[in-house]
Amino acid sequence: MPLIVQKYGGTSVGNPERIANVANRVVKGWRDGNRMVVVLSAMAGETDRLINLGKELSDDPDPRELDVLLATGEQVTVSLFSMFLKSQGIPATSLLSHQARIYTNQAYGRARIVGIDTARIREELKKGRIVIVAGFQGVDEVGNITTLGRGGSDTTAVAIAAALKADLCEIYTDVEGVFTTDPRVCPKARKLDRISYDEMLEMASLGAKVLEIRSVGFAKRYDVPLCVRSSFTDRPGTLVTKEDKDMEDILVSGVAFSKNDARVTLTRLPDRPGIASRIFNTIGDANIVVDMIIQNTSIDGFTDLTFTVPKGDLKKTLELIGPLTREINADQIHSDENIAKISIVGVGMRNNAGVASRMFSTLAAQNINIMMISTSEIKISCVIEDKYTELAVRELHDAFGLEVARPRGTLT
Ligand code: ADP
Ligand code: ASP
Ligand code: MG
Repeated sequence: MPLIVQKYGGTSVGNPERIANVANRVVKGWRDGNRMVVVLSAMAGETDRLINLGKELSDDPDPRELDVLLATGEQVTVSLFSMFLKSQGIPATSLLSHQARIYTNQAYGRARIVGIDTARIREELKKGRIVIVAGFQGVDEVGNITTLGRGGSDTTAVAIAAALKADLCEIYTDVEGVFTTDPRVCPKARKLDRISYDEMLEMASLGAKVLEIRSVGFAKRYDVPLCVRSSFTDRPGTLVTKEDKDMEDILVSGVAFSKNDARVTLTRLPDRPGIASRIFNTIGDANIVVDMIIQNTSIDGFTDLTFTVPKGDLKKTLELIGPLTREINADQIHSDENIAKISIVGVGMRNNAGVASRMFSTLAAQNINIMMISTSEIKISCVIEDKYTELAVRELHDAFGLEVARPRGTLT
């Protein structure tokens, strides 16, 4: 009997009517003879509501208690979903993370799944039940509730699919699949039939929240057949899969953007060994993840250093490096929260020159200044002023002809 894991995001379970609607889709799969495991998110907006509720009572909520609070969002949807199925005479059971035995480390708010003991899920499936698992939450080795970070239900679903060696993992959301860019920002965005794991990893890490990055990592590592589809239509969606030759023919397959980071610049730093390491060790020790880093070549023994950190960590970063920069005699610290990172992604870039220059001239034609640039084998990212984000996304989408599906990518 085939085993299918389906995950439904917040909009898809946003109210009782939608829950009933997607539950019927699950029942259809079950009646067709599949074993069904369903992973649910909290209702749309619920996780944000809970975070704000926590902030009303504490400026800096205790991470353990915040996770206890946030995990309630998914508890609500799994119970409602299972209740509805049972009222229809369909055998079902809801499982929270400790019951589904999804074990994580103790990094509250961004916990990592370290193992899943599938015995209970298998037992329920053997009884012919549809198993409804709460996404986003886990349990550490001493029984504390943890959460996986925003968008974490995708990761729960793919990790369960990997652990159960499921035949298919379907991520149901509010768009019809993975698009060349966010269809809410660019009306010309085109749905992709297929995307490679590596491109999807880059897209997700650069801001395309349609799949949470760790879910893609799991899918790649454990070869999980992964599909992104809409819970509102029956159209086929996007397959996230291994790279093949045809994919390499496509030069640029997507544009991603993120407004999550802030920029920090230190001017007139003494250019001598050990300075960068002191700065970044201090920031790293506080568990702050630095993304882009640029250091100038030195002039007269001094240099400038610019880097980005998540906006939420900017205040802490400035508190940490303030005393340090005085100690090492840097001139000034500047910071800027009004930035965005725009990226183009494509495995075909590896073997083709000219992609970067087309990106830069497209931004220049709109008078958009580039503040930072970083590249890897299959992506180029530019930091720009955030007010230009939507314009830049649309112009780059046009410049690389992404609205048209092409079998072979060219730069002409
Ligand atoms: P869910 O609640 O179902 O997990 P999310 O809001 O997390 O849904 O992710 C879906 C959203 O991702 C879409 O509504 C869309 O705005 C956004 N998105 C960003 N980039 C892309 C992309 N390249 N393709 C599809 N959707 C994208
Ligand atoms: N409810 C969580 C969030 O809003 C997890 C998820 O939806 O994937 O981030
Ligand atoms: Mg999501």
